[in-house]
Amino acid sequence: CGIIGIVSSEPVADRLVDGLRRMEYRGYDSAGVCTLDDGKLIRRRAEGKLNNLVAELAANPAPGDMGIAHTRWATHGAPTAQNAHPHATDRVALVHNGIIENFKELRAELQADGRTLESDTDSEVVVHLVSREIENGSSPREAVAQVLPRLRGAFALAIAFRDHPGMLIGARRGSPLVVGYGDGETYIGSDALALAPLTQQISYLEEGDWVVVTREAAEIHDAEDQPVEREIQTSGASA
Ligand code: GLU
Repeated sequence: CGIIGIVSSEPVADRLVDGLRRMEYRGYDSAGVCTLDDGKLIRRRAEGKLNNLVAELAANPAPGDMGIAHTRWATHGAPTAQNAHPHATDRVALVHNGIIENFKELRAELQADGRTLESDTDSEVVVHLVSREIENGSSPREAVAQVLPRLRGAFALAIAFRDHPGMLIGARRGSPLVVGYGDGETYIGSDALALAPLTQQISYLEEGDWVVVTREAAEIHDAEDQPVEREIQTSGASA
């Protein structure tokens, strides 16, 4: 399982899939991508091998110069296209590796609030919690800072916002996540290997960190939401 996100000014779909290929060795049962193009979140998912996702993208392309992608190793919910990540609302799309241990309580709360969840995963509650904050007027940063403390369990997350082109938010607790720095583009990924064709300049997020990634910068916050610097290292991973 793995996560990759790219904020660029060039198309990202093919590069997202390349990143997923580089994480195939970790194992997975389904995969998906979501790009943002012209104010629309464009989501493509497929059960099984990455080639199924490639075929889906050939039939239904995902244009856009930023996006997130995921290989899933199902823990909650069968390995179907419906349960594949990204999960999304109208406004927010999200990929998750790990397990949200309190998802049942959170799902009950969201359903009591009139929200309809489409998958059997633990992950989908997170996109609804973030989306609800956004719908209530929060900024992406505020929404994520509100929601992260409510999650129990282990996660790496990457989140895209329909109304905020040119930025992604990532978060890590218990599952690895790195930031990669390119030339006019910035990346997040599960490991340096996934990003190796894109950049060798990597910051390793620490436990509880979350990051706002734009084309030009990565603004990292610690678990107490304080801005922090994480050293930029040259990864030895070969492209
Ligand atoms: N627990 C999530 C799911 O079953 C994420 C699994 C993963 O890490 O790929 O969808």
